[in-house]
Amino acid sequence: MGIPLIQIYRVARYLAARKLRGQKRYPLVLMLEPLFQCNLACAGCGKIDHPDEILRGRMSVEDALRAVDECGAPMVSIPGGEPLIHRELPQIVEGIVARRKFVYLCTNGLLLAKHIDAYRPSPYLTFSVHLDGNRQRHDEMVCQEGVFDKAVAAIRLARSKGFRVTINCTLFAGENADEVAAFFDEAMQLGIEAITVSPGYSYQHAPRQDVFLERTNSKRLFRDIFRRGRARAAGARWAFNHSSLYLDFLAGNQAYQCTPWSNPTYNLFGWQRPCYLLSGEGYAPSFRSLMDDTPWEQYGVGRNRKCDNCMAHCGFEGTAVDDAFTHPFKAFKAAWFGPKLTGPMAPELPLSYVPQPRHSVSNIPISAVAVAPADPVARSAAEEF
Ligand code: SF4
Ligand code: SF4
Repeated sequence: MGIPLIQIYRVARYLAARKLRGQKRYPLVLMLEPLFQCNLACAGCGKIDHPDEILRGRMSVEDALRAVDECGAPMVSIPGGEPLIHRELPQIVEGIVARRKFVYLCTNGLLLAKHIDAYRPSPYLTFSVHLDGNRQRHDEMVCQEGVFDKAVAAIRLARSKGFRVTINCTLFAGENADEVAAFFDEAMQLGIEAITVSPGYSYQHAPRQDVFLERTNSKRLFRDIFRRGRARAAGARWAFNHSSLYLDFLAGNQAYQCTPWSNPTYNLFGWQRPCYLLSGEGYAPSFRSLMDDTPWEQYGVGRNRKCDNCMAHCGFEGTAVDDAFTHPFKAFKAAWFGPKLTGPMAPELPLSYVPQPRHSVSNIPISAVAVAPADPVARSAAEEF
């Protein structure tokens, strides 16, 4: 399995049109957050730390589809919270699919069996199931036992009904490359289309701050993981839901700057400046205002301490895709040979501010992560839905 040709063709056509017009900033994936409420409270989550009245808020179908039209990106990712809690999500998804945009519906899988028949298989719809590692690792990261098994059952169910399925894997401190490689093998054997992977962003509001990887550790870890992947037999290779140059960036071979406008975020507060990950930087009243009035030069590696350790795909995949269009031979080489796994890494971008320690990052094993108390609002949502 792989990404359908229709998706590759439409996205390539969209990108070519932007490049031909000489458009400097354009959206690639709209991050549409129709709610913040979740039925889990994961250790590394920065999305659910809101008062109850915000957690109970829901984006209307009309508002969601207006944002999709306003943005114009060819792909729409629906994260949350847990989107399947939203009663009107099937109508939102149907409306986006009707516009022939590619939807990645992110879910932790717990509610998928209950709601799956509200969706129809389509080349335009992919369930992106949250799995951060093997059974032990994932259950530790989501702070609840049994979630891994339910997510795997949800993947099997979705595949049996003919849906496109990917997994969304975030890597944190204390990862073991052998375990990650074995987990990727296991995930591919479930019949998924591809793996979306990135190092966790160190959310200031996450319940645990010591679970996040630093940039250099991230690059070393990815080299170690990719090295193991390269040793797999041809038929057992992993498929990633990323461009070849983003993978090369993860392995430390590209000194990319973030292009947050490539993944604009729309949620209950409006258009979030500058990206999906940073909250507290304000909201724009319209997509045009987001693109035109955001002080983009204040964000990115070396420009803002909140961006210090970020290598997330929502900031850097757009950069890699743009680079691939500008340097197709380089992208082809990275795709053919894979990321460089030895030798010096690309230099970090220079700092344009005086660095100050924001929080300490250590390598405390995830097994030491305490189980977070279940959020009462999340629990009531899970029971209700
Ligand atoms: S599944 Fe976990 S990481 Fe995702 S929104 Fe819920 S609490 Fe956050
Ligand atoms: S580097 Fe980019 S994606 Fe990451 S937090 Fe900063 S602005 Fe957001």
